[in-house]
Amino acid sequence: VFILAIESSCDDTAAAVLRNNKVLSNVVARQSIHEEYGGVIPELASRAHQQNIVPVIDVALRKAGITKEQLSAIAFTQGPGLMGSLLVGASFAKSLAMALHIPLIAVNHMQAHILAHFIDEEGFDKPEFPFLALTISGGHTQIVQVNDYFSMDIIGETTDDAVGEAFDKTAKILGLPYPGGPLIDQFAKEGNPKKFAFTKPKVDGLDFSFSGLKTQILYFIQKNVQANPNFVEENKHDICASVQNIIIEILMDKLKMAVAQTGIKQIAIGGGVSANSGIRNTLKAAEGKYGWKTYIPKFEYTTDNAAMIGIVGYQKYLQDQFTDSTVVSKARIEF
Ligand code: ATP
Ligand code: FE
Repeated sequence: VFILAIESSCDDTAAAVLRNNKVLSNVVARQSIHEEYGGVIPELASRAHQQNIVPVIDVALRKAGITKEQLSAIAFTQGPGLMGSLLVGASFAKSLAMALHIPLIAVNHMQAHILAHFIDEEGFDKPEFPFLALTISGGHTQIVQVNDYFSMDIIGETTDDAVGEAFDKTAKILGLPYPGGPLIDQFAKEGNPKKFAFTKPKVDGLDFSFSGLKTQILYFIQKNVQANPNFVEENKHDICASVQNIIIEILMDKLKMAVAQTGIKQIAIGGGVSANSGIRNTLKAAEGKYGWKTYIPKFEYTTDNAAMIGIVGYQKYLQDQFTDSTVVSKARIEF
């Protein structure tokens, strides 16, 4: 089975070709246009997708070494995401599937961040059901109990900002370019995580909140810059390490609570923020510390990519979960 997968939910145009559960090609065109605005501008994202989609798919097919006539089905991101961006991928997928007379498969982007773990990749174990997924990305922060490929329950989620936003907004406060998450990660490596103390938000149960932390960081920086205009420059590494540290503590507190509640000790992470090296190291260490089995995806399958859409496409193909061209894109979508 050859699946062509298209992902266009936000600001990256991505295409991948899978042969069964193996990735033959995984191409991403990053849109650098948003950097100068400090965030994604939906209209610009949509236009860039229109420019990128044909070349990105061409390259994906070429790298996979197959022609479009060999494709078995086309999978695309139905949502959640930016409507204008989703529509570009959806329209293209629909027309191509129709032209080639092959099935069309609609994929939930957040399920894909989780099911990326089922891509067959040397050196990476696949989780066993049931497991807990911590999905941390630019728009979501969820703890999901995954009972089967398409049987998932969100047991905790953010009540305001996502973790990725906490990273990106902190970076903005520090004057770093968008998206700031990777830069904070990089600077944190050389900093002292205990240098500056921030307080954790009090949120009941398995839910999260990150907007208070952002305000706390803003006031902290403003106060210190007033006393010393070079405060950020002089303490960049320690600030990043301390912010990353508190975010990791918040995530780990809730994960421990979720494990206690469900009795499930298999933890898989997904979403762009799971690229974070501090989070990866802490989770790895939790195996020895708490007796968990943790699953950390290959780096390129964490941030937005089409291979993860392709693996969901493959699973749905096996289960005959096809759709037709009347399917509508959805900015918000539950499981
Ligand atoms: P969603 O998946 O919720 O629709 P999205 O697709 O915009 O959101 P992803 O691409 O999954 O989000 O993740 C992007 C986020 O990941 C950004 O907020 C970015 O700053 C963050 N991120 C990427 N790498 C790192 C890192 N190393 N450390 C921290 N955050 C990171
Ligand atoms: Fe994403």
